Amino acid sequence: MTTLHEPAVTSPDLSVWPVSTDEPRVGAVSVGGVPLAEVAERFGTPVYVLDENEVRERCRTYRAAFPDAEVLYAAKAFLCRAMVHWTAEEGLGLDVCSAGELELAVATGFPPERIVLHGNAKSPRDLEAALRLGVGRIVIDSPSEIARLAAAVGPGGHQKVMVRVVPGISAGGHDKIRTGTDDQKFGLSIADGYAQHAITRILDQPQLELTGLHCHLGSQITSVKPYLAAVRRMVGLMARLHEQHGLILTELDLGGGHGIAYRPGEQALDLTALARKVRAELSEACAVAGLPVPRLIIEPGRAVVGPAGIALYHVLSVKRTGDHTFVAIDGGMSDNPRPALYGVRYAPRLIGRHSTAAPAAVTLMGRHCEAGDVLDTDVELPSDVRPGDLLAVPVAGAYHLSMASGYNLVGRPPVVAVDAGTARLLVRRESLDDIRSRDVGL
Ligand SMILES: *Cc1c(COP(=O)(O)O)cnc(C)c1O
Repeated sequence: MTTLHEPAVTSPDLSVWPVSTDEPRVGAVSVGGVPLAEVAERFGTPVYVLDENEVRERCRTYRAAFPDAEVLYAAKAFLCRAMVHWTAEEGLGLDVCSAGELELAVATGFPPERIVLHGNAKSPRDLEAALRLGVGRIVIDSPSEIARLAAAVGPGGHQKVMVRVVPGISAGGHDKIRTGTDDQKFGLSIADGYAQHAITRILDQPQLELTGLHCHLGSQITSVKPYLAAVRRMVGLMARLHEQHGLILTELDLGGGHGIAYRPGEQALDLTALARKVRAELSEACAVAGLPVPRLIIEPGRAVVGPAGIALYHVLSVKRTGDHTFVAIDGGMSDNPRPALYGVRYAPRLIGRHSTAAPAAVTLMGRHCEAGDVLDTDVELPSDVRPGDLLAVPVAGAYHLSMASGYNLVGRPPVVAVDAGTARLLVRRESLDDIRSRDVGL
């Protein structure tokens, strides 16, 4: 039903959308100068849209907030060749956790010396690729890695390493993304002495040069405080290492985990405050310990790319049972496993048309054969939502496609970059041919 009179609508809240988002008429949403309905029309749905300038601006914001630090983009949040270029061009380094991420970056021209390799369980192939390609640093995560790495480097060789330390701090948006506490799979604990023990063993390996300590507290952290606590614990360890071994470390990597707002009204981590307070805490702690101030390294992933991405879906079906409405889209847990994994919530909205129908709470379902494939159980959409409608999910740039799966063989969605009024395909949709070509047995 259409009405002749525009009702007095409050303009939609675009606070979690990219800065370039424009909505001249309600529903006619464009990002990077490109109407999203046009992207959906041209590339089909589901499709992921990435605002190139938003990514670049976020890289620049980091460089400006942390001028003397090394900023490494955490590739696991999202990686493709264009992303590698943008990261390199904006002066960031790269943090990778597999031979795959590493090979893609180096094959795209990323300088290997600006890459750091992580991983709680690095495969022989990961280490082989790291040494062959000459990565800047390898972060040691377990005692057994030390001898393995030293042997792979060889007696005449040389490799810079850091040690992943567990500072014993709980922070992060969900239990499954807290990594700074004792008793989880990452790193070596200060509390039980494992970290100190591993460091002693590294110092016995002449081909390994220990440049610094590393920690990563978790993800989706919105307060500065845990980072300051981490600085104190890490400098405390550095002071003990100095006493015991005369060791002076030149780098301190505080990892990533910087939180972002997924829905209007949510809080993001304040980067300016983080930069200022971490710098002050680090200077003071080092002064007290009589240590020179190490160079700071940070590793944001989500905060660089998350808010720059938008997922577009078509509504496939609408079921009304009792007072419940189920709206199913043409994507789901295979392109975005986060709701199923961590119960996170988004702010999806109808775009492409202006509905004057009253809003109604609906359950937004994915298309997969899994009762848990629910994007959200309580989303406000116009009550006349119907098959064929276009839905947009903002803040979809991080940990969606990088965690995408092949479930139900629907094929992973494409990635389209928008910038200055043009849309270009970065990663094409996974086709049935792609799926068939891997299936080589009979
Ligand atoms: C995942 C991870 C990051 C990035 O985390 P975000 O929450 O995306 O900022 C950085 N460093 C390490 C070691 C990680 O595992």
